[in-house]
Amino acid sequence: LPFDQREGLIWFNGELVAWQEAKIHVLTHALHYASCVFEGERAYGGEIFKLTEHSERLVNSARLLDYEIPYSVEEIDAACRQALAAQGLSDAYVRPVAWRGSEMMGVSAQHNRINLAIAVWDWPSYFDPEQRLKGIRLDMAEWRRPDPRTAPSKSKAAGLYMICTLSKHAAERKGYADALMLDWRGQVAESTGANVFFVKGDVLHTPTPDCFLDGITRRTVIDLARARGLEVVERAIMPDEMEGFEQCFICGTAAEVTPVSEIGPYSFAPGEITQMLMEDYDTVVRPDRRGQLARSAAAAE
Ligand code: PMP
Repeated sequence: LPFDQREGLIWFNGELVAWQEAKIHVLTHALHYASCVFEGERAYGGEIFKLTEHSERLVNSARLLDYEIPYSVEEIDAACRQALAAQGLSDAYVRPVAWRGSEMMGVSAQHNRINLAIAVWDWPSYFDPEQRLKGIRLDMAEWRRPDPRTAPSKSKAAGLYMICTLSKHAAERKGYADALMLDWRGQVAESTGANVFFVKGDVLHTPTPDCFLDGITRRTVIDLARARGLEVVERAIMPDEMEGFEQCFICGTAAEVTPVSEIGPYSFAPGEITQMLMEDYDTVVRPDRRGQLARSAAAAE
């Protein structure tokens, strides 16, 4: 069912409106000049995982685009919970989006209203579940993450997804599930919607997030790995180093922890560490199971 023809309620500038009525004008600044930022969150068992971190990142993403969302982090948290409850879902994807409206048309938009909407829908698996078990295959993207002097690269800004869509389309045309992007210096950066980790022995290696999103899932995985006594190294990773890594996975709110079996010419075998982190992530996101992880960490000490 197309997204604009679904049923339910969308939180829209402080009110719950009928799903199909949540519309904006064609002369919206965000549509023409990309003055839009968003979040992607997941609710598990009725609770949005790391909600406040997402709301804070949304506010910061907007500040990097030179605007202030007219709601506090606490109000955005409450609005996300309200939108989730209104859809009557306990496991769901939550999409807050903020944008400059249609009051002025042109590059300058000093007086445009800042809008906020939050939609919630069911999104069980980002990748085909069968592919996900074996590990997904990634293409090497042609597009590179921009130099932070070229774009507000730390903002989860809609405009930065243009190269992600292009890279993902090119990958899908070649039969891959997704693409790995390098950054402007030629270092490994991230996939089009998730961060990347490599495993060699008992050590995890992941690129330093200096020109791409420092994912909330990425930080969660680092904490989970360290709680298991694994070393995590954040550093610059050159593409030819991928030859020497044994396991690889990507992680993000939508993708969760997804094993990778191939990136261009390099192959990986989904292994024990990836499996353990997938399971630990599935545990930590669930409010009714989270305690188990604390207990197993305490037992290991
Ligand atoms: N990089 C990109 C480009 C993304 O779209 C996402 C998903 N928001 C991530 C990384 C992972 O971020 P998070 O774990 O906060 O969802």
